[in-house]
Amino acid sequence: MTKESSLSTYKRESSVKQLSSQTFDLLVIGGGITGAGIALDAASRGLSVALVEKNDFASGTSSKSTKLIHGGLRYLKQFEIGLVKEVGRERAILHKNAPHVVFSENMLLPIVENGSLGRTSTAIGLSVYDWLAGVRFSEWKDMLTKYATLKKEPLLRNDIVRGGAIYKEYRTDDARLVMEVVKTAVQFGALCLNYAEVKDFIYSEGIVAGADGMDKISKKDFSIRAKKVINAAGPWVDTLRAKDQSLKGKTLHLTKGIHIVVPYEKLPVRQSAYIDVKDGRMIFVIPRGEITYVGTTDTNYSGSIDHPVATKDDVNYLLATVNWMFPSVKLTVKDVTSSWAGLRPLIHEEGKGPSELSRKDEVFISPSKLISIAGGKLTGFRKMAERAVDIAAYELASEESRDFKRCFTDKIILGGGDFKDEYAIAGFAEKMETLTQPSDITTKDIFDLIHRYGTNTEKIIAAVKETNDLSKPALLLAELNYCIAEEAVANLSDFFIRRTGKLYFEREAVAQEYAFLKEKIAALLHWSEEQKKFCDAEFMNEYEAVVTFA
Ligand code: FAD
Repeated sequence: MTKESSLSTYKRESSVKQLSSQTFDLLVIGGGITGAGIALDAASRGLSVALVEKNDFASGTSSKSTKLIHGGLRYLKQFEIGLVKEVGRERAILHKNAPHVVFSENMLLPIVENGSLGRTSTAIGLSVYDWLAGVRFSEWKDMLTKYATLKKEPLLRNDIVRGGAIYKEYRTDDARLVMEVVKTAVQFGALCLNYAEVKDFIYSEGIVAGADGMDKISKKDFSIRAKKVINAAGPWVDTLRAKDQSLKGKTLHLTKGIHIVVPYEKLPVRQSAYIDVKDGRMIFVIPRGEITYVGTTDTNYSGSIDHPVATKDDVNYLLATVNWMFPSVKLTVKDVTSSWAGLRPLIHEEGKGPSELSRKDEVFISPSKLISIAGGKLTGFRKMAERAVDIAAYELASEESRDFKRCFTDKIILGGGDFKDEYAIAGFAEKMETLTQPSDITTKDIFDLIHRYGTNTEKIIAAVKETNDLSKPALLLAELNYCIAEEAVANLSDFFIRRTGKLYFEREAVAQEYAFLKEKIAALLHWSEEQKKFCDAEFMNEYEAVVTFA
């Protein structure tokens, strides 16, 4: 087992000490995709960087998205041409730099009677979409007849389908993407710590000069000195702006979106689809292994930012939508095996409803020079990071007569992504499989690992081989060991929710695996009986919450 990575939970104490022992060029608050992207951008340009996250990495919105790397076809309707062009082009960059966690996916777009999309407008819209995103001409959209659309997806209701289109999108696992960005930032020298909450800012002559906070694991306070501070706290951006006394002018407008998960056999769609709903909204239906997930909703939100939940109304809306478009499936709430609810940190615009608000990002600079960034999308995180770091690096360069590189994150291969291309993954999988045979480890087990850890899967396989036990439980334990040693896993919620996504996509298997791993992690991290009880209670809460709708 490697114990070297500064993301090692075994090294946590020394990382916490290091936070308080130097003055960083940049402190980033928030370990979602925005903060992770900023840490990577800044560290790779030569700034010394600390990133602190109050819970686990990606525990906010960045593990609750639709998990698509997409240009946002919908935004074309709102004439957000610049946004569509920028995020559309980001898709190919992310796919190239992290092919294990960002992969292409054909999306079916049925055109329905009295829907918001007509055949001509769809054909023009998708062509513009492909053109703006720089999609190779050979991969541009295909328009389909009614017959071809229903052949592609026989579950669609044939009385209203008038035709359709197939176009190119990308799928991801949002929390895994965040983790690979964090790991890459650490390779460039950033110090990234989860469970480290900023409580207050430190000022020097009215200018923000760091932050005080608490390590939620040891319950010890820390104090970080930094020349520049970026607030990338997603839905909590305004909470921190308020602490800085700078919550004036533009503010956030939070909207909630939920997803539900059902067993694949209950909604056996042949590929991902983007469906036009009666109320003028659009909903994704995405098959993934043994489940299909459906989302999302978009409603104004004013409840607890820490605990957004899926309500019965949210779930019923999605079930009704699916049953309307795929009449033979007849889903009920009993079919829902998991769910998630997240908050979009959008910028408020007077008089606009949730779905009309722009998804563009904005930077606010306060009188104390706190840089706050909000809005945007998972897909556009690299360019958001570039914009925020440009500001911090420019100021630092002029204040200290230093030179920093320009942003080059488009050239940086993300953790585990060093495959020549998507096709090289199959060859790598074959090699990994050969190493584990004979055993009951399956091709699916290997591919699941590769889609999580990319080339780092090799470390997990090497570790399990060393134990001379090629059983599935031994493989699971090797995966947990890897996540503790290299991905800052501090409890089994981190492991089952954000590192593996199993609570969402394989909840049934989780109960048994949790029972097997709970004593193992307690022994590895030397937990007291009290810590064991606390982690058990936290996990059970999350385990029940995904199927409990108020
Ligand atoms: P977050 O991920 O919320 O990260 C902020 C972090 O800051 C949190 O982890 C929080 O714990 C931490 N934090 C807060 N306060 C403190 C503090 N005091 N100290 C330390 N840390 C703190 N985008 C796409 O591109 N594709 C999609 O398919 C897509 N689907 C979506 C579906 C839904 C339902 C939603 C809600 C959003 C979707 N988005 C999608 C948008 C995307 O998910 C968000 O734009 C993005 O995840 C926001 O990331 P963030 O890092 O800004 O915020």
